[in-house]
Amino acid sequence: MGTLQLEVVTPDKTVVSAEVEMAVCPGVEGEFGVLPQHVSMLSALKIGDLRYRVNGKDENVFISGGFADVNNNVLSVLAESAELATDIDTARAQAAKERAEKRLSAHDDSLDETRAEAALQRAVTRLQVAQLR
Ligand code: ATP
Repeated sequence: MGTLQLEVVTPDKTVVSAEVEMAVCPGVEGEFGVLPQHVSMLSALKIGDLRYRVNGKDENVFISGGFADVNNNVLSVLAESAELATDIDTARAQAAKERAEKRLSAHDDSLDETRAEAALQRAVTRLQVAQLR
């Protein structure tokens, strides 16, 4: 069935550059799969797990939201931050989770709730993706 090229890029670095058999992305309206020779598309991504298959083996990457662009058999994922499941620092994610929970439960007037919720979501999702390694 062939392969497609997957590129996962953040402002800092290229996190994945690989020929893959398929990928499943965390779209804002639900997960979607991309197989080789997929039609062109652009989709917004939410905080979640991006799964891809190489030689029959699944790999997982944490994505902090962003965009997925499919064109000419290349899936380009642009994200604010992304880490391979094996590169996730679980102690750091746990600390970020506790920090966000504390902020949210303090109900301080100066709290930016949307920001705190997003930080919590990133931390919880990093811990989930790290479990998949
Ligand atoms: P923190 O509060 O721990 O910084 P955050 O969710 O605010 O977490 P981001 O802004 O998403 O962090 O990411 C900043 C940089 O740190 C990115 O390069 C990201 O890949 C990296 N990073 C953040 N958390 C982790 C983690 N738990 N393990 C590995 N890398 C991480």
